[in-house]
This record gives sequence, structure tokens and C-alpha cells, in this order.
Amino acid sequence: MTQALARSEDRDGLPGKADGVSSQDGMRGAEKATSKPLNAFTIDVEEHFQVSAFEAAVPRSDWEGLGSRVEDNVSRLLDLLARHETTATFFTLGWVAERHPEMIRRIVGEGHELASHGYSHVRVNTQSAEAFREDVRKTKAILEDMSGVRVLGYRAASFSIGHSTPWALPILREEGHLYSSSTVPIAHDLYGDPDGQRFAYKPFPDDDFLEVPVTTLRLFGRNLPCGGGGFFRLLPYAYFRWGYGKIGRESGEPCIFYLHPWEIDPEQPRIAGAALKSRIRHYTNLGRTFNRLESLLRDFSWTSMARAFL
Ligand SMILES: [Zn+2]
Repeated sequence: MTQALARSEDRDGLPGKADGVSSQDGMRGAEKATSKPLNAFTIDVEEHFQVSAFEAAVPRSDWEGLGSRVEDNVSRLLDLLARHETTATFFTLGWVAERHPEMIRRIVGEGHELASHGYSHVRVNTQSAEAFREDVRKTKAILEDMSGVRVLGYRAASFSIGHSTPWALPILREEGHLYSSSTVPIAHDLYGDPDGQRFAYKPFPDDDFLEVPVTTLRLFGRNLPCGGGGFFRLLPYAYFRWGYGKIGRESGEPCIFYLHPWEIDPEQPRIAGAALKSRIRHYTNLGRTFNRLESLLRDFSWTSMARAFL
């Protein structure tokens, strides 16, 4: 470990580059011949009022009348990524893309990967197979028409693909996606399958389609969250720094980090009528996220899903 870190520091002069992640930087790093994979940095592009935890408090029919904050927050994230010379994957709602064409142009124009987060954040396990196919097809077409690039990846709202949706991954493949990142193998009240796979796997024996679960840390015989989201705000940053180093060293697999644009926005209006637990999860430590992202981008090397996995 010590030697690996020392070698890493010699190579790129950045402190704390953990073994298990390769040298900086985004696209240039991905092109190097290396046995150490880059990690994948992902952003689920949605408004602060579109999260599953607020579904009951904010009906979809109200969305249009609520003030949009997503473009300003994505803009700050794009500036941050540019400063760290890092590319990322933006899993974007079709509903949001339609209303922010300039944001889509900037994401693609700055070399990031545009991917699908479905049209309007309906969890997959609440849809029929037919409705899901329609949603997947419609969103892919919107994103591709707007961006002029092929959309390869899909992430389900609230990681809602699992045992109850055996038709979901076949439909994603049939509709032309090459990978999904829609599962997380932890026990959680809203999502997750603690018995699920921890690392990227091919669900179909005759096809290269990949399911890439969000990163977890295996400790004391359990899978613990280590993929970002609310946990990145609720737990100390040192946990993630230690965890990503450990996972990279032990598995040799890329880690996957995810966040939402609203997580760097402490000024966002509070949603009235949401459950207390949802409010605590959503609003805790919003003011700390941005500085933690600076540390994360400094301490490890990141790129898009497509570059890390395809
Ligand atoms: Zn989402």
C-alpha cells in the first residue's frame, strides 16, 4: 500500500491517489494502457422536487409550476469537473432534457457522457413491462435527438430494477442500451437487494450488455453503502476515501460514485409536507457536498461509465 501510494505520488504528484485507481485524468488517463481501472463519476440529473422520497408530497402535475434549479447546479458541476480535467456520465431525465436544451449541449460539448434516467422518474418496479419499454424508448429518442450522440447507458429511478422486474434488463438491451447502472446490493427501505452482485456483470450469456451496480463496501460480512448519494453527505468524507482505496486495492474494479445536482444546493426551497425521514435525508449537510466533491476529485481518478466499463 505504502509503496503503491509512493509510486502513485511520484507519477502524478497528487497526494492520496490510492492504489487501485489509475493516474489522472479523465479521457487522457483512460487512453493509457493500464491494468488499474479509472473510477466512474455519475450524476443523476433531476430537479430537487423530483426525488422518489418526495413523490407523495409533490405530484407530477405540480412540477411545471415549481422553480427550476437543475441547470444552475449542473453548470456548477460542469465547472468543477472542468477544473479537475475529469469527464463524467450524466444520467438525465427526459422531462428535464426537454426543458434545458442548452444544458444538454454543454454536457455533450464538454466531452461528458449523456445517458438516460428515464423520462419522469417513475420507479421501474411500479411500471408494467410495456410502460417501461415505452418510457425507455421515448427518453432515449429525446436525448439522442437533442444531443446528436448515441445514448448507451440507463439508470433506473431509485435503483428500482431487481427481482420483481426480470423483464427490465432484456428490454433495455432490446431498446439499444449497452449498459445499465440500476442496482445496489444493500438493504435499504426504498431500494436495494442485499444479495445482488457487487461488481459489473453480464446478465446475458451471449451478449456484452452490462449491469453495473453502484459501489458498496464489504465489511463484517455485510455490504455497506459507498456509492455516494445521501450517504456522501451523512457519513464522514474519510469513510469514502478509505473505502474507495480499499475496494480498488482488493477488487481491482472501478468504483462508481453518484450524486444529484440538488445536493450542492443548500439554498433550494424546502418541500412542505414531506415525511420527516425524507426531509432529514434530503437536506442534511447540503452545504458540505461541494467541498467534499473537490476532495473526491483530487484524491481519486474519475471518468465516465462508458470509458470505465465499455
Ligand atoms: Zn433519480
